[in-house]
Amino acid sequence: MIHYQYLLFDADNTLFDFDRANRGAFHAVCQAMDISESDEHFALYERCNNALWRAFDRGECTKDFLVIERFRRFLAQLDIERDPERCNAVHLQALSHSSFPLPYAEELCRTLSFTHRLYLVTNAVAAVQRSRLRRSVLAPYFSGAFISEDAGAAKPDVAYFDYVFAHIDGIRRDNCLLIGDSLSSDIQGANNYAIPCCWYNPKGAPRPDRLRIDYEIRDLRQLYNIV
Ligand SMILES: [Mg+2]
Repeated sequence: MIHYQYLLFDADNTLFDFDRANRGAFHAVCQAMDISESDEHFALYERCNNALWRAFDRGECTKDFLVIERFRRFLAQLDIERDPERCNAVHLQALSHSSFPLPYAEELCRTLSFTHRLYLVTNAVAAVQRSRLRRSVLAPYFSGAFISEDAGAAKPDVAYFDYVFAHIDGIRRDNCLLIGDSLSSDIQGANNYAIPCCWYNPKGAPRPDRLRIDYEIRDLRQLYNIV
């Protein structure tokens, strides 16, 4: 029996290994901009990047601002002079060529595509994400992809989900399931929009108590028994 006909998948770190793509893009920036590459420098970049994405999730800054600002802060902390806009351009270019599926993602999407309708719901820079999705082995299994920049709103905002629902015939709050790894964008978004959600938590992070989490999985194959 099918419980959730419409499956809304987050992309990065739910179906795609974004950490690997991100590390590769950082490598490309260091090469192109003559910045010495080390784990410490990558960790510093990640602190700048993550702080800004959290601010973005809270609606405190725009994506155009954050993609440049993360490099501006990184370069300032290293105390070196490089063009942050160029760093970001190299980064996005490298990222747009990297889409590595996570374990079991391809098998899962292929199998479910016979019985369910699969969509991607992703907060990202539209040009980069479209390129990554198009090149991905998962592309044939999806009926559509909703990228926040195109929607003019992002997870966890209600306006983003209004956009998604307006573009999928037949979807209702009770026949869809959102699957994602992020508490602040995916699970918070499902809570805001009152739709069922499944938290993909491969590392076994502690469960928060102020969010509704209908299902929690550590392995994508556990979805077969839920949907
Ligand atoms: Mg994610």
